[in-house]
Amino acid sequence: MKPDFDKGGGLLSVILQDDRTGQVLMNGFMNEEAYQKTREEAVVWFYSRSKGRLWKKGETSGNVQVVKSMALDCDSDALLIQVEPKGPTCHLGTQSCFGDDHFNLQTLEKIVDRKVEHPEEGSYTKYLTEEGIDKILKKCGEEMTEVVIAAKNDEREELIDETSDLLYHTLVLLKHQGVSLGDVEDRLEARHGENLSYKVRGEIEEW
Ligand code: AMP
Ligand code: ZN
Ligand code: ZN
Ligand code: ZN
Repeated sequence: MKPDFDKGGGLLSVILQDDRTGQVLMNGFMNEEAYQKTREEAVVWFYSRSKGRLWKKGETSGNVQVVKSMALDCDSDALLIQVEPKGPTCHLGTQSCFGDDHFNLQTLEKIVDRKVEHPEEGSYTKYLTEEGIDKILKKCGEEMTEVVIAAKNDEREELIDETSDLLYHTLVLLKHQGVSLGDVEDRLEARHGENLSYKVRGEIEEW
């Protein structure tokens, strides 16, 4: 599939999305040359309508956008690019040009990564990591027990709190062991596929 530049008067509408968190980062435009350069260099180039020239995103800020994957929309006049942003995407300093209210488990994983790799004084994640694996395992066990107790007592708010604690500590554990949420998602996806194929096989055997 090739993008359709004609429909937009030579410009393709491009949406950048954080490959890890799914956050929508910004909207920009590419002419054919910007698209070619993006494919060749695997970093995002735009055509700036205000500057009237090609523009490598991050050319002055250094916050380039590394291309992970791309997809055209149904009629090939819009392009979605999944990227690894090398810093805040918006020139106003936020991750996204649409504001930073986006939050999911991957966002938390990214925060944990940052706290482990660039520890700050007084950080609980730094403390846990420095205490080591036994401390992390003990906390995971305790939080799971608290989840069980909250559920058993039918305490909804407690259950939400304790599950939050458990998920956070599990992310610290996974980070410590060199496993990512992406690895877990890949496994879940593979199982989902297996289940489907069992189902199909089961149906065939019934014939
Ligand atoms: P950069 O490409 O990040 O080095 O930024 C260079 C210049 O491009 C900035 O000073 C802004 O004028 C503009 N710019 C950068 N990022 C954005 C953005 N996400 N939305 C609109 N303009 C931007
Ligand atoms: Zn379209
Ligand atoms: Zn912006
Ligand atoms: Zn707890």
